[in-house]
Amino acid sequence: MVGKQTQQMKKGQQAAGTTFGSKRIGVESKESVVTPPSTSAETQLNRRPVGATPRRRAIPEGLWTKCRRCGELIVDKDLTVNLKVCPQCSYHFPMGARDRVASMVAIDSFEEMDAGMSSVDVLEFPDYPEKLTANQKKTGLRDAVITGIGHLRDHRIALGVMDFSFNGGSMGSVVGEKLTRLIERGTRERLPVVIFSSSGGARMYEGMFSLMQMAKTCGALAYHAKERLSFISVLTDPTMAGVMASFASVGDLIIAEPSARIGFAGPRVIRDTTQSDLPKGFQTAEFLKERGLIDAIVSRHEMKDRMAYYLDFIGSRAEGPRT
Ligand SMILES: [Zn+2]
Repeated sequence: MVGKQTQQMKKGQQAAGTTFGSKRIGVESKESVVTPPSTSAETQLNRRPVGATPRRRAIPEGLWTKCRRCGELIVDKDLTVNLKVCPQCSYHFPMGARDRVASMVAIDSFEEMDAGMSSVDVLEFPDYPEKLTANQKKTGLRDAVITGIGHLRDHRIALGVMDFSFNGGSMGSVVGEKLTRLIERGTRERLPVVIFSSSGGARMYEGMFSLMQMAKTCGALAYHAKERLSFISVLTDPTMAGVMASFASVGDLIIAEPSARIGFAGPRVIRDTTQSDLPKGFQTAEFLKERGLIDAIVSRHEMKDRMAYYLDFIGSRAEGPRT
């Protein structure tokens, strides 16, 4: 199905190429206005009177997305159908937590936990409440993680998914508490835990309370492991700092999406501190897999099948009827 859509998308891209070409030679026809307007600076330079300010024809917002890697223009609807992966170069765009949950578990089986939990401004950090409200409005989430129990094929799993678009996926007390409750429920009900991380690190607005979440989540995972239950950690772009330095790096299996940036401090900080050049591809999933930190790199299209395979291997069949 995806293949067919990709084919259709490719046809659309070819058509787009034709229209761009005809514009360049000045034979633009008005009947097929299905492509975004050209932003070619060259064409516009010729038309613009001397001394006038550059005129930029904007691509309509919310209809097209430009691929950050190959520059391809992709219709937003097609991008969503293709799991936010560029059909041209397979660049993995950031994926929202709700879309991710829907891509992994049968959505009618998903029982969300602590959906209403929201942060409080315990340190009275300037502008933090406003920032929280703005992020809640922007994303439709209460905080940067969704947790719950759902069915992935035959397996009942405890699933946590972080969302980078909520304040950079930062881990404050709510993210830590929700994940800890998820892991503890996984331990009680003997479920494997799967967490998709996407985070810039600890939430500075909550200071020490954010840092405490690192120990809390890892503590809960230690009890989970003591019961001989499995934790699969999936690192998506980017997984950095306090999240990578705690629960995200202690999975029994650590999987990453292609080209995901993974690390503790950012490359600029490391370069400045060590006063040395960093190797090529530093802090990418591929670099870390080569060095043994990551077990597998799995593309988004394969993720569900591969996760089912791993869960089969672990042996965590759901009891009772499949939903
Ligand atoms: Zn691309």
